[in-house]
Amino acid sequence: MRVFVGSLATETNTFSPLYVDRSAFEEAMYCPPGTHPAEPQLCSAPFVAARRRAATDGFTLIEGTATWAEPAGLVSQAAYESLRDELLDQIRAAMPLDIVLYGLHGAMVAHGYDDCEGDLLACTREIVGPDCVIGAEFDMHNHLSDKRVEAADVIVSFKEFPHTDFLARAEDLTDLCLRAARGEIKPETAVFDCRAMSGFMTSREPGRSFVDRLFEMEGKDGILSVSVSHGFQAADVYDVGTKVLVIADGDRDKAAVLAERLGREILSFPATAKVPHLKPAEAIDYAVSVEGQPVVLADRWDSPGGGVAGDSSVMVRALMARPEIPAAIGALWDPGAVRLCVAAGPGTKFRLRFCGKVAETSGEPIDADIVVRATTDDLVIPFEQAFYSLGPAAAITIGNLDIVLATGRAQTFSPPTFTKLGIDLSEKKIVVVKSSNHFHAAFAPIAAEIA
Ligand SMILES: [Zn+2]
Repeated sequence: MRVFVGSLATETNTFSPLYVDRSAFEEAMYCPPGTHPAEPQLCSAPFVAARRRAATDGFTLIEGTATWAEPAGLVSQAAYESLRDELLDQIRAAMPLDIVLYGLHGAMVAHGYDDCEGDLLACTREIVGPDCVIGAEFDMHNHLSDKRVEAADVIVSFKEFPHTDFLARAEDLTDLCLRAARGEIKPETAVFDCRAMSGFMTSREPGRSFVDRLFEMEGKDGILSVSVSHGFQAADVYDVGTKVLVIADGDRDKAAVLAERLGREILSFPATAKVPHLKPAEAIDYAVSVEGQPVVLADRWDSPGGGVAGDSSVMVRALMARPEIPAAIGALWDPGAVRLCVAAGPGTKFRLRFCGKVAETSGEPIDADIVVRATTDDLVIPFEQAFYSLGPAAAITIGNLDIVLATGRAQTFSPPTFTKLGIDLSEKKIVVVKSSNHFHAAFAPIAAEIA
């Protein structure tokens, strides 16, 4: 048996001014064939899952390119087409194939392509023919188009938000594709379109129990896999929205009945299923009212994981208005300010202009008397089994407030964003992270509360 694996992923906020070209992929993560690391990265987890099964099951694994760009704005047509064609050329060279496994995100939008993943899967089908099993893993924040469902045999999305299960779902995908290629199962897929935007988190109810029940359904009564595509709200594309995908063994009607039942259940979730979005001053008042510390506040829509800059000054200004509160905020994207701080060196006091630069939604820049607290050549932070590099970074201090500035854009996945620059979070009443929910698992153990 011959199996190909490749990965092409980013998440596109079509409202963001941060345009993406090929260099954005090459700078974030670009692994030509044979160079993917041993650890799974978020969207390339099928590489690791396929390697493990190749070792136990004895098939031939042909590795293609794996690449990822940090979520941002539209991808250029040239970037998408060159990366797509690179993978397709690798597949042509690897033929004949029994299985193609893809690690995708599912919300990539390029100039001229509202549905990059649908295009990639359809082009792949043209090359490999009808008998090769095509499987794709998606982030749950994907735009599940009909084109994708028609082109692929098996689609599995992350179930957990925060995304702690990218490797586990890659293992599910690999297993289902192997069983399908061996003729042990016949995956039949049905999709129910909720015709709504209905995201939920699995770190809280009712999402937690709902997803626990999905796990219980899988592997029983002919149900092979259940995935919920939440959709990605910050994209103006036709297929945006929440959809439920069910794969049943040889029985599309059964899949359709379950998909509709689960979709209607999601639509009936109360409004409280969504995370409340507090105004900056309200969030600070709330944190102060909580016993214990630190209270971790998520600046959810200034998360680079959602394709925005991550340089908003709004929460910094709100914290500066409460100078009596020991607080920390990070990591803000400001390569220019980092360069000034690195050149000045730790201990230097000067008046710095920082953040609030990229877009109107970033707020106004801040000018303040700061002290450079610490600098680093490369701020590397863990997220589950993966590591993200934020490049050169600096911590600056304004009174009781510590601020982390970074050269690279990435979510504040875990406490080392602060602790590696000498900031002790237990001394802070408030810690503000630039992340929507991926921070949750790593910050929960040190947080008095998360809001
Ligand atoms: Zn996601």
